[in-house]
Amino acid sequence: METSKNKAEACVLADSFQALGDETKARDLLEAWRWPNGPVCPRCKNAGDKRISKLEAQSTSRKGVRKGVYFCGACRKQFTVTVGTILERSHVPMSKWVMALSLLCSSKKSISANQVHRMIGVTYKTAWFMCHRIRHAMTADPATEPKLTGTVEVDETFVGPRAKPKTPVVALVQRDGLARVKVIASVTQKNLGAALSECVSKEAVVNTDEHPGYKNPLKQWKEHQTVNHSRQEYQRNNQDGSKASTNTAESFFSLLKRAIIGAWHHISREHLARYANEFAFRWNTRHQTDGTRLKGFGQLIENKRLTYRQVSCVC
Ligand SMILES: [Zn+2]
Repeated sequence: METSKNKAEACVLADSFQALGDETKARDLLEAWRWPNGPVCPRCKNAGDKRISKLEAQSTSRKGVRKGVYFCGACRKQFTVTVGTILERSHVPMSKWVMALSLLCSSKKSISANQVHRMIGVTYKTAWFMCHRIRHAMTADPATEPKLTGTVEVDETFVGPRAKPKTPVVALVQRDGLARVKVIASVTQKNLGAALSECVSKEAVVNTDEHPGYKNPLKQWKEHQTVNHSRQEYQRNNQDGSKASTNTAESFFSLLKRAIIGAWHHISREHLARYANEFAFRWNTRHQTDGTRLKGFGQLIENKRLTYRQVSCVC
C-alpha cells in the first residue's frame, strides 16, 4: 500500500519535470492542482452549476482562442487557470512555472533564485521574482488562518549579515502543530504582544524564554511558562506532567538559519518576512509527501497577486 502511494506521489514531481517544455501538459497539471473537482470561475465562483465550457476547439474568430480558455455560463466571462493567481500576466511559460512551484514546494532547505534560474532556464531577475511570488502565496493570511492553541512555544532570534544590524524574527509554534513567523522592527513588549495577539489564541499555554518583553503582554493569556536559558534551563518537567521549553521554536529557527546559510545566503530585511513564511509553509506541511504538498499549494495560488513594483520598490 505504502509503496504504491509513494509511487503515485513521486509521479506528481516527475510529471512536473516531464512537462518542462510542454505547455499543454503543464496547463493540465496546473488545472488539476488548482481545480481538483473541475474548473471554477475565478470571478463568480461558479463551479459548474451553470455550465462551464472549454472554448479551444470551437474558435472561429480570426485570432483564434488562447489555449485553456473557459467560458462561464453564470457571469458569461472567459477565464483561464492563471486568472487571479500568482501566474497572472506572467510571460514565463507555464511549464517553467510548474517546475518552479515543484522546486520550492519540495526543497526541504529551500532553493536559491540562482539555482532556479539555472534549472528552468530563465534570467536570474525573472527567477528571483517568480520565487517571491511563490513565497507570497505561501504566506498564511492571519485573517483566515486558525489561531494557534494548546501549548505554544514563542521564541525570538536575529537574522542578518554579521556586520550589519540584525533583524528580529519571532517564531510562534504550536507543539505538535502549526507554526507562524513574524518579522518585527525591534523586540519590544508592544511588538511581541502584537505578534501574539495576531497568531495565538488567548486559551493557549505560552512557553517562552526569560526575555522580559513577554511578561506583561502574556498576562492576557491563559498561562505563561518560562524557561531560564541564562541558568542553563532548557526544559523543565512540571508537576502536572507538562513540560516547559522552547525547544520546538528553537528547532524551527535552526532549520530556518540553515536555509539562509545553505540556500539563500544574503537576504535583505525587506524580503525576510517572505523567506520566513516560505519556511513556515513547509514546516506546516512537513507530514505531507512532496506530491500532496504541491497539490495543496495549487489551492493557495489564488488571490495572491504580487507585482514587481511591490517587491522591487523597497529601498
Ligand atoms: Zn463566472
